[in-house]
Amino acid sequence: MHQEPFSGEFREGMPFLGGSLWIDFVNTTPVIKGTALDLIGDASGLAHWARQANIETALASEPDDPATLHDLRAQLAEAFDRLAASKPLSADLIATINHLIEHSAIRRRLADAGATTTVDEHVELAGPPVASAVAWDFAQFLGNYEHQRLRHCDNPACTMQFYDVGKNNRRRWCTMSLCGNREKVAQYRGRKAAGRAD
Ligand SMILES: [Zn+2]
Repeated sequence: MHQEPFSGEFREGMPFLGGSLWIDFVNTTPVIKGTALDLIGDASGLAHWARQANIETALASEPDDPATLHDLRAQLAEAFDRLAASKPLSADLIATINHLIEHSAIRRRLADAGATTTVDEHVELAGPPVASAVAWDFAQFLGNYEHQRLRHCDNPACTMQFYDVGKNNRRRWCTMSLCGNREKVAQYRGRKAAGRAD
């Protein structure tokens, strides 16, 4: 898996603002202007999303199964709320994740760097590319997270969720552009209507 560091909230119009690959995967069902979308609902959408997520799918020996991905996403969406509430994960999800990562591994290799010897590590994922990359990321995430940083966007009409990596843990919105500014405009209009515009 080679997910690069965050370079923006959207990549070719698709949200990558979750702070972790598995949350971005859960966020593939955004509601945009009142319409629920499924960004990975067909093969071309899935291939497009995988490309933006830096998941290599072309060389996969075993393709992703749409029904499996659909189930995985639903299970992870539920897991998000359980983790946020400090509740234990379901046995079903644990079994699903273990199954998806069982043949993946971290490979280590010593490299002679002259005066010193360094250790190179890389993750070798096996199995359906999107499902195993997402499952691996989830397992990795569980090793180090703070539950109070898992939040839904404050806009009740928005389905996006995220892991707040900010120092102050005060992020409220999926993005300023989608929801944050909307709220500011609404507040301004409210004040103006009440004769308190400033
Ligand atoms: Zn939002």
